[in-house]
Amino acid sequence: MTAVSGRTVLVVEDEPAIAEAVRARLGSEGYDVLVAADGPNALEIAERDHPDLVVLDLMLPGMDGLEVCRELQKQTWVPVLMLTARTDEADKVAGFGVGADDYLTKPFSLRELAVRVKAILRRVDRIRSSSNGDGPIERGPLAIDPARRRVTVDGEDVQLTPLEFDILLALARSPGVVQTREQLMDGVWGYRDFGGGRVVDSHVARIRRKLGEDGQEPRFIQTMHGVGYAFREDAR
Ligand code: CA
Repeated sequence: MTAVSGRTVLVVEDEPAIAEAVRARLGSEGYDVLVAADGPNALEIAERDHPDLVVLDLMLPGMDGLEVCRELQKQTWVPVLMLTARTDEADKVAGFGVGADDYLTKPFSLRELAVRVKAILRRVDRIRSSSNGDGPIERGPLAIDPARRRVTVDGEDVQLTPLEFDILLALARSPGVVQTREQLMDGVWGYRDFGGGRVVDSHVARIRRKLGEDGQEPRFIQTMHGVGYAFREDAR
């Protein structure tokens, strides 16, 4: 039917009206859509049907979206688009760092949801098909091998999600060059979040933790306050 047919999206939402609206919209875009109304059911479906993406409501009865997200990432890595009721809630969730790729605040437009789902899947495709000609990058003790999607610090492997990897690579490619949150969103996510790019901040924070960064004096990624981020020219 369309280019996206064969891609499966799992929608986890306990409000039937929202679940149905999302199912109908994504279905009309050509996705195979599965729906779960609670966490345990979602995990069961994910294990059985291996969705390409999960749209996950934060506020679920019983097991909440954070826990579901954490459990999902234990199975195999799957991109998660989290639905939250409020912006401050999205901030808080981002702070927990459970590994959601992005957040949408309710009420959201179905068009916006469809745009994001498409962009996330496009990014995943790019990752899976990437046989890019980039050679390994070495920045002080940090080494990135784009072909193998491998990162080491002082020779120790660092486990990054595909999204975290892409962000780090985007920064490390051009040391000393400041990239705004908007530029990172355009380049890595493939769309711009008008919420101010807080999703960028939360992912950079996660990357820093995984790289063992010291908050006071980061070795690799510098914050340019009010502007964005830059990879240190003198990474050490
Ligand atoms: Ca809910």
